[in-house]
Amino acid sequence: MPLLDWHGAQHFDHTGPRPCALCGKPTPLRSRQGEPAHKVCAEDWNDQHPGVPRHLHKGHDRGTERFHSDPPKKKET
Ligand SMILES: [Zn+2]
Repeated sequence: MPLLDWHGAQHFDHTGPRPCALCGKPTPLRSRQGEPAHKVCAEDWNDQHPGVPRHLHKGHDRGTERFHSDPPKKKET
């Protein structure tokens, strides 16, 4: 499966771990939409849901799409 590139600083929440939206275990990692998720869990989800928008549980749709890699950057700021 394709691996995500989550090197950007926004993927690490320094305020502490929160339950992963996918496996429920604590993670300091965040998706590009700010959803707590392990990178491996997000990759797994993408692999199992090709082309499917990412919806949160309990019927709430935050308008997020599937987990994304960081866009290519010319330079880190
Ligand atoms: Zn997880």
